[in-house]
Amino acid sequence: MSAKTSDVIVVGGGIIGGSIAWELAGHGLQVTLIERDRPGAGASSAAAGILIPEADPARPPEIIDLYQRSLCLYGDFMAQLLEDTGLSVEYRVTGRLLLALDAAEASSLEQDRQIQHDAGIRAEVWDAAAVRAAEPALTAATGGLFFPDHALVDNARLTANVAMAAARRGVTILTGRPALGLHVRHDRVLGVELAGERIAADVVVNAAGSWAGLLDARAWLPVAPAKGQMLAFETRPPPVQHIIGSRHGVLVPRAAGRLLCGATVEDVGYDATVTAGAIEGLLRGAFAVLPALRDCRLESVWAGLRPRCTADELPIIGPDHRLRGLYHATGHFKMGIISAPITAQAIAAVVMGRESPLSLAPFAPGRFATLSS
Ligand SMILES: Cc1cc2nc3c(=O)[nH]c(=O)nc-3n(C[C@H](O)[C@H](O)[C@H](O)COP(=O)(O)OP(=O)(O)OC[C@H]3O[C@@H](n4cnc5c(N)ncnc54)[C@H](O)[C@@H]3O)c2cc1C
Repeated sequence: MSAKTSDVIVVGGGIIGGSIAWELAGHGLQVTLIERDRPGAGASSAAAGILIPEADPARPPEIIDLYQRSLCLYGDFMAQLLEDTGLSVEYRVTGRLLLALDAAEASSLEQDRQIQHDAGIRAEVWDAAAVRAAEPALTAATGGLFFPDHALVDNARLTANVAMAAARRGVTILTGRPALGLHVRHDRVLGVELAGERIAADVVVNAAGSWAGLLDARAWLPVAPAKGQMLAFETRPPPVQHIIGSRHGVLVPRAAGRLLCGATVEDVGYDATVTAGAIEGLLRGAFAVLPALRDCRLESVWAGLRPRCTADELPIIGPDHRLRGLYHATGHFKMGIISAPITAQAIAAVVMGRESPLSLAPFAPGRFATLSS
């Protein structure tokens, strides 16, 4: 069995693994990225690409802080990507309008605004007239909460370009090659097993998304897929300028006349098929907000698997508590696209023995020490 050597092996070529590989290579490390399919084959290309930190009293403040800090990094992240690849990716700070669709929802807007304010998130209450002035097509709204800093990005291109940027920094990218397990001696990771080949490295980063818990039984994690189905309309000109949220879902105005509509959250295992019932539900929700969409061409439908931590729905970022040399970066659930820049910086810091720019204690893999597969 042949043995190649790297400083770091990253397993998984989604937005998380790709960003980590790119970041580590920027610090001069020899990195190999192993992707069993092609970069972006998983959830990262299926996402809506909205970057929308929103405070929720039911969620710990540390996770809102992670999203906020990662959003702040996004402008530089995109500029660096352009510099490294020469290619631009759609990234726009459009703001997001969260609609109230009846009097009860309108009456809680001020309270919601206060919750956001207390968490350091800018939000403004808009009455029905302000919504109509900004978005004349939204006739059903009784008001809304506007988040001026919320942004969108073309997540599929982003993921592909991040892998390209990593390659330009010298990362070796192996595609079509599943990592079959870890090479471990005693409690130390020595590399990754591929079919007919072993790659040696002092450090392995598990960024295998929904499959991260399956990489090796000795490094089990409570990660399961949460299926999301979406669709896109073709709408020229775009009927809305902002990201539009409501209790029916989200509408995302992308470039080139695409209006994305999403998304379901389903607990159905590793099944990523598109189902008629889910698409019916998404269409009904979209029509309730924007009736004119009935006349638009349905451009595409798709599904992806979000990596969800079944224990607490928080990401899992940091050193493994059982195997030395192994790090995890997964479980980003509904927010992996926004979380990529800070996750990459945090993993790079701990791998290099530096202080993480983000406190990783709430996201430590060791918090599951009492759980088992
Ligand atoms: C419908 C939908 C909408 C979403 N909308 C948003 C949004 O608007 N904003 C946002 O921030 N997030 C959103 N998300 C969540 C986001 O997409 C995910 O959190 C993020 O993409 C996870 O990235 P990842 O790199 O961890 O996983 P993935 O993108 O799934 O990448 C994991 C990769 O690992 C590879 N892999 C797995 N096992 C192995 C192995 N053994 N060997 C080699 N390779 C392996 C897979 O092939 C895959 O390419 C959405 C997700 C979905 C499904």
